[in-house]
Amino acid sequence: MSNKQPDIATEISTCRLCSDRFRQTHTAHEPRPVAWFQPGARILIAGQAPGMRVHQSGRPFTDPSGDRLRQWMGVDEDVFYDKARIAIAPMAFCFPGYNAKGADLAPPAVCAKTWRAKVLASLPDLRLTLVIGGYAQKYHLGDAASGGVTQTVERWRDHGAETIPLPHPSWRNSGWLKKHPWFEAELLPVLRSRVSEAL
Ligand code: SF4
Repeated sequence: MSNKQPDIATEISTCRLCSDRFRQTHTAHEPRPVAWFQPGARILIAGQAPGMRVHQSGRPFTDPSGDRLRQWMGVDEDVFYDKARIAIAPMAFCFPGYNAKGADLAPPAVCAKTWRAKVLASLPDLRLTLVIGGYAQKYHLGDAASGGVTQTVERWRDHGAETIPLPHPSWRNSGWLKKHPWFEAELLPVLRSRVSEAL
């Protein structure tokens, strides 16, 4: 009999901690954890939680947000989905459901509490972490993210060479991008260059 422990991504894929919570949402869905990483990855994409499309595909960022994020990073799908190089670990691994306005619910806090430290410990070779959206920024940046996403991203130069805070690449944020032209003009060229170096 093998004594080999299952890797952390495999363990997460069988997690059903939020079954009751998700059953009570409008979509009454079952948990479907999307854990996309393996040891050796050099870049971590620390996002929020899968949306409905990713819940259905079982692959992270298979949606317009993913297209935009790949464009921001300057990588194609082959590189983006190469787990040996890029780890994708959101604050919750499952789609949380919708609120009354049709927006995604917050990532269940129990997910980060249960899994996140173990996930990060399994990724010792990270050179760059992209911290996307308020939930991940609060977790990864602590007090430095207390002013909200805009202020945190505006101060992207203060977070060190190995961390870049980003807004969510959702098309809902197109207005934000227009309002903050420095993001494309100043931050994105640095992001692409750091991604390329880290890879
Ligand atoms: S969101 Fe996280 S804690 Fe909840 S069922 Fe999915 S993997 Fe488990």
